[in-house]
Amino acid sequence: MTAASHEALRAQLLKKKKELNARLDRISLNLRRGYEADSKERAKQLEDNEVVDALGNEARAEIAKISAALQRIDNGEFGICIECGLPINERRIAVYPYADECIECAEFDERRRARR
Ligand SMILES: [Zn+2]
Repeated sequence: MTAASHEALRAQLLKKKKELNARLDRISLNLRRGYEADSKERAKQLEDNEVVDALGNEARAEIAKISAALQRIDNGEFGICIECGLPINERRIAVYPYADECIECAEFDERRRARR
């Protein structure tokens, strides 16, 4: 990949990270909201919070992946599969810019997870 496309990618990743951080802020704001005195209302709120918390964890996991991808760009390791060391298909990166595995390794992992 060229330096120019690395810069474009970096900008794209930073933008995505900013969006996710904004989402996390909204999520934690929701979680901090006071509980209703009414116990039925409170049960509903706790349930909502669990959903909200799961969304928060998802956003945090995505932010971690983006940070790792940004670091790989800095180290010049971006676009190289962390499993097998072969270049990751550029079409895959276009769809999934913070991919750290080539499609073969990712599919292998998925099959391994599915068997568990
Ligand atoms: Zn691989």
